[in-house]
Amino acid sequence: MAESGQDENPDVVTQTISVDSVISSEELAQLRKTNIALEGRNYELRETIRQLRLQSAAIESERDQYKRETKKIKGELEQYRTPPLVIGTIEAIASDGRVIVRSTTGPQFLSKVSENVLKTDLVPGSQCALHPQSFVIVEVLPNKYDALVTGMEVETAPEVSYADVGGLDKQMTLLKEAVELPLLQPDLFEKVGIEPPKGVLLCGPPGTGKTLLAKAVAHETNATFIRVVGSELVQKYIGEGARLVRELFSLAREKAPAIIFIDEIDAIGSSRSTDAYSAGDHEVNRTLMQLLSELDGFNTRGNVKIIAATNRIDILDRALLRPGRFDRIIEFPLPDEEGRKTILSIHTRKMHLEESVSLESIARETPDTNGSELMAICVEAGMNAIRNNRTSVLDEDFSKAIASVKEGRNQKIRPLPDEMYS
Ligand code: ATP
Repeated sequence: MAESGQDENPDVVTQTISVDSVISSEELAQLRKTNIALEGRNYELRETIRQLRLQSAAIESERDQYKRETKKIKGELEQYRTPPLVIGTIEAIASDGRVIVRSTTGPQFLSKVSENVLKTDLVPGSQCALHPQSFVIVEVLPNKYDALVTGMEVETAPEVSYADVGGLDKQMTLLKEAVELPLLQPDLFEKVGIEPPKGVLLCGPPGTGKTLLAKAVAHETNATFIRVVGSELVQKYIGEGARLVRELFSLAREKAPAIIFIDEIDAIGSSRSTDAYSAGDHEVNRTLMQLLSELDGFNTRGNVKIIAATNRIDILDRALLRPGRFDRIIEFPLPDEEGRKTILSIHTRKMHLEESVSLESIARETPDTNGSELMAICVEAGMNAIRNNRTSVLDEDFSKAIASVKEGRNQKIRPLPDEMYS
């Protein structure tokens, strides 16, 4: 007799019993038991394999993640190890394609150019990054007008109008002629056949309204007002000042109509001595030369105008004052009594003054006082009223303010009013 367990469960290992074998029912039961146990074990092993496969996949993905992180950290480490690139300014392009670069630390290099740099970007005057060892140009930096971050003030059509300027009628007429007319009616000059003045120089003591009037012209002509202080153009590194001047003019051309206002021009435009220059003098000189060359290449009928201001016209280089450069000089003296009265009336326009206040007598009492001090007197008088819990300003508030501003002028620091201690 032959017996097979095949028809009961095809997955179970079959066992053929020879015909001659005699299997008792107990043995058969035992075999079946063993079979079931083996089946259970088989299932367990398959489950273990499945679990191990899952674990292996998780470990593999973790390993991949660690690999990526290691690569990133290695990259970062590499970056820390790489020395920084040197910044330079492109001076000229040689005929063989190499470039003459001046590094910001001083020396000039004849550098090769990396293949990744577009030849069209290699423009004299632009900034580039040099490899620290080979000095190969690896990048040309975008022209970001970094003058913007070095103290340049850009104002689109400033708020100040001619009505905010007092006692400067003559100066206003001259500035209108030199700046406003060429901007608003350039054809007028063409018809008459003359060139408008190139640059206008405002000179006079501090606080006499030079910046104020220049801003008012920008307002009236709807021009962008770009103000830079001369000392900001004096830079520590070679060629930087000249680059800032270049960028100042290209920014003005971009924002045209624009008025460039260089305050304290004496910082770069003072007379060059004939003695041997120091390195600093050379740098200031280079900046001035750049300013002169920008002025020379300037179209007087264009829509960019340049105004400069100084308190020290006596020390200015003659080259700046030559015809074709700052050839229109407008003086800003301290205001006379009438001028002071007008300035006071401008600054008290919004103040609530008592009947007793006479601007004439305040103007009479304040000889040798400039516009900004007159403004300070008005503010101080208003503060006196506030300190005394009043909203209207009395004559005595002005008297105290005049004394305080005069004292402050001598001491350089405004003294604290007595009321503040009581
Ligand atoms: P600095 O030479 O120091 O640059 P500045 O001549 O350019 O001085 P401003 O900056 O124009 O002087 O004036 C300072 C402030 O004084 C002005 O904002 C304005 O409030 C006041 N001021 C000066 N002059 C006048 C004026 N003529 N009319 C009205 N306000 C004036």
